[in-house]
Amino acid sequence: MREQSVAYEAETGGDCHVPCGKVSILGSTGSIGTQTLEVIRNNGDIQVTALAAGSNIELLEKQIREFKPSLACVWDVEKARQLKVAVADLPVKVVSGMEGLLEAACEKKAGIVVTAVVGMIGIRPTIAAMEAGKDIALANKETLVTAGHIIMPLAEEKGVRILPVDSEHSAIFQCLNGENRHQIHKLLLTASGGPFRGRKPEELKDVQVEDALKHPNWSMGKKITVDSSTMVNKGLEVMEARWLFGVEMDQIQVVIQPKSVIHSMVEFEDGAVMAQMGTPDMKLPIQYALYYPERRFLPGGRLDFWSLGQISFEKPDFDTFRGLALACEAGKRGGSLPVVFNAANEYAVNEFLNRRIPYLGIAEMIEKAMRSHRVTENPTVDQILEAERETYELLKSGR
Ligand code: NDP
Ligand code: MG
Repeated sequence: MREQSVAYEAETGGDCHVPCGKVSILGSTGSIGTQTLEVIRNNGDIQVTALAAGSNIELLEKQIREFKPSLACVWDVEKARQLKVAVADLPVKVVSGMEGLLEAACEKKAGIVVTAVVGMIGIRPTIAAMEAGKDIALANKETLVTAGHIIMPLAEEKGVRILPVDSEHSAIFQCLNGENRHQIHKLLLTASGGPFRGRKPEELKDVQVEDALKHPNWSMGKKITVDSSTMVNKGLEVMEARWLFGVEMDQIQVVIQPKSVIHSMVEFEDGAVMAQMGTPDMKLPIQYALYYPERRFLPGGRLDFWSLGQISFEKPDFDTFRGLALACEAGKRGGSLPVVFNAANEYAVNEFLNRRIPYLGIAEMIEKAMRSHRVTENPTVDQILEAERETYELLKSGR
């Protein structure tokens, strides 16, 4: 597996890699998407070539007027039609659906595509962008979790880079600058523990949507906020790290660090541990991915170690946060099991957000789907999407 990290080798020196500074953003109206545009606005030297969103055409229209992309995609066909009318005065082409998303991913002028859509919908556009020779600033972890065995070799084949946007993976990426990746002993993935850290299952029975949407340190989209509260997010990140850095699952250790100031660490063969620290601000990893290997000034808070005082660490509670244990199991078994883990979680989180299942039902659904699945090794994209469909059907039927 180590060879697969070659496409991703840290480089020392060199110019900003954004060819002519042209970027497309898939999921531009979301938490990562809007922060990416904030970074672009603050720097002023990147041209936005394509923007894609699900249905929020009010915000998308504002973004089009400010950043002037030549292409915009709205998943929802009717909303795309409305947007077309609204921006008829501008030289922007409006497309829709999966075909439109693929077109946005491959927009000719872009050198880098920021994948900030949520969920497995990101797989096909990410692959299409890579096929078209684009570097990927990857926020959409679900793609790597379910199709890492396709994405990483493809990156190598096409000579494109997968630059992590997820803060933990960006931290590891920064710790690896100038290092030999074959000398990684362990990746130490930090986690805040979420709003329910320290609770036991009986104390989680009555958790409501509003409780799960209160993250102590980060402000994010709804799905990832719920995933952080269940620690499924950390499970997804373990699998994401395994693919990005070409390590084995048992070389990754999750460490609870409640204040989220250490964004992750790497232990090397000689026992040295490197950590990347900072205030919790997604704009840092986003900007680092866009300008890598260059660092730019970023306005915002700075760590003040005198007032910070202490940084504490804990072991995760795998019994209470079943989603994390199940993710580790899925990652170790591999094949199509991470697909089922992820699809079941996407389905269950949506059910929970719509108040159709209780909070603890999320992990129950994931476990049920995993236990009923017969694993396919090295699934193709079609097999991945089929496993997703089957998981949804199983959970919908309540069997
Ligand atoms: P949000 O829910 O805030 O945003 C999702 C974005 O995707 C929105 O722009 C949404 O459009 C768009 N979208 C949804 N469905 C489609 C579709 N079918 N076609 C095109 N666009 C679509 O999510 P986040 O920004 O929080 O997360 C995005 C990804 O980044 C996730 O994979 C998450 O795990 C990852 N991530 C997020 C972090 C964060 O801090 N938020 C941190 C690390 C990783 P619309 O607004 O119109 O619905
Ligand atoms: Mg993260």
